[in-house]
Amino acid sequence: MKILIVDDSATIRMKLKKSLEPICSEFIIATDGLEGLALLKTHQEDIAVVILDEEMPGLTGSQLCIVIRNELGLKHLPIISLTSLNSKEAVSAIFRAGASDYVHKPFVDEELIARIHVHYERYNMHRHMEALVETRTEELSKALQAAHTASDAKSKFVANMSHEMRTPLNSIIGFADLLLDLEQTEEATEYLNLVHLSATDLLQLINDVLDFSKLDSGNMRIEQTDFSLHKLIDDMKQLFERQFSDKQIAFVLEGEQALPDKCTGDPLRLRQILMNLLGNALKFTPIGGGVMLVMIASDLTDTSYTLECVVCDSGIGIPSNNLQSILEPFQQVDLSTTRKFGGTGLGLSICKQLVEAMGGSIDINSFENIGSRFRVRIPLRRQSPAAIERSLQADAQLKSTPVVQPLPIVPLRILIAEDNPVNQKLLMTILKHTGHQVCLAENGVQAVERFMQEQFDIILMDCQMPLMDGYKASLAIRAFEKSNGNTHIPIIAVTANALEGDREKCLEAGMDELVSKPIKRQWLETCMRDLVK
Ligand code: ADP
Repeated sequence: MKILIVDDSATIRMKLKKSLEPICSEFIIATDGLEGLALLKTHQEDIAVVILDEEMPGLTGSQLCIVIRNELGLKHLPIISLTSLNSKEAVSAIFRAGASDYVHKPFVDEELIARIHVHYERYNMHRHMEALVETRTEELSKALQAAHTASDAKSKFVANMSHEMRTPLNSIIGFADLLLDLEQTEEATEYLNLVHLSATDLLQLINDVLDFSKLDSGNMRIEQTDFSLHKLIDDMKQLFERQFSDKQIAFVLEGEQALPDKCTGDPLRLRQILMNLLGNALKFTPIGGGVMLVMIASDLTDTSYTLECVVCDSGIGIPSNNLQSILEPFQQVDLSTTRKFGGTGLGLSICKQLVEAMGGSIDINSFENIGSRFRVRIPLRRQSPAAIERSLQADAQLKSTPVVQPLPIVPLRILIAEDNPVNQKLLMTILKHTGHQVCLAENGVQAVERFMQEQFDIILMDCQMPLMDGYKASLAIRAFEKSNGNTHIPIIAVTANALEGDREKCLEAGMDELVSKPIKRQWLETCMRDLVK
């Protein structure tokens, strides 16, 4: 080991060299504190032990010690102080300065060597541990990076799969819709309704998996938009009243009138949570039972309140040993649940995560064969009086406008850019049925070419296409318009993508609106009419 000796006395330096020869491979010698400091700076990595005279002219041993510890940052380097002072105060001052140990002069060789050994061993152990921690930290950060990459890959996989699954589903639902419009036998209508229902169930399942994956990867964004809570509840009431009455279940809604109406929050997610709880109540309550939804506003202030929704049913209930786990993903009461009632066990876990992402909570109380009670508490912001006034004025204006009869559909010349043959057929059939004139491009390149050569009123653009995708094609069309001084042609993105940020991506590429697949005919028609004025 290399030892640094800092001592102003030549006799002691000689003695030290002689005594420590058996354990030292190289001596580095300094005759005062400043020289010791300079040598330490240059040999920092090599020096294993410092022997320091306490009483030196200029920098004392303790002063040098403080510099070594604090300025050079060598917190663990063994520093052994040699001192002729015997008082307790002198010894404690040495330790306060940061020395590892001290030896009285005149020293005994064996004692000094023994102390050096103890501190050197500790120092080595410490360096070994530090190196180990560094390696492990590096390994962990690599593993973390790999986990992030894998998780990103999983999210992308789920998003792509959902796109791939939505595409054929879009066709199934769309063609079933078209067929239902045609004259059918009673039996055919029944089967078609079943096809429609199953495809819609499958779509719900895909949406659940996508939501679950978004929540799992922390990519779920909770919106903060202004909305009318009364309208949201009213829509839901209408949706469920028929289903409850079809199953002869008594349905009672209470408390909604007293809730503040104009709120700020995420209406879509709030609706999703309530639909899930009511949907479960409907599913797990037998014919002739009862379901109640009670809504209360608590912690009411001028700017916020907590919306408390309690869904009670007189259904099959949940056994007490399942109550804890039922909010976890893929949990159902038993394996026969899927067979008897359908479902995947994802709904409640999504509800729980959504409620928590909104800063709320969910709890369950249930007794087997008696019924269940689900309670969610969600903090909502109240709209400011000024915002309420504005929306009341807008409502009043809407009411005073004479009711406009639906406009007759104006036939449009539409360019469809779509590579999937089934989707091409579906879109063309829907649009031709409504009296539009339709042209087809099978990829982005063809779409841009046809746009440059012909006159169209609007373009329906698929996003993912071979040769050139919908984003690039839209950018090219906008660039062409700009350089030729053409008027802006409306472009609607027709996409099965349902990820956060897809809308923004389409708008950035110059598209005007996004219609997600499966296409709702009415919605597409309204969108086109709004854009082609
Ligand atoms: P899914 O309904 O798709 O199975 P959920 O996560 O919504 O998924 O529900 C998980 C399980 O919790 C259900 O399968 C059922 O066993 C139980 N459950 C949920 N709601 C109720 C209810 N109102 N009454 C009885 N059991 C319920």
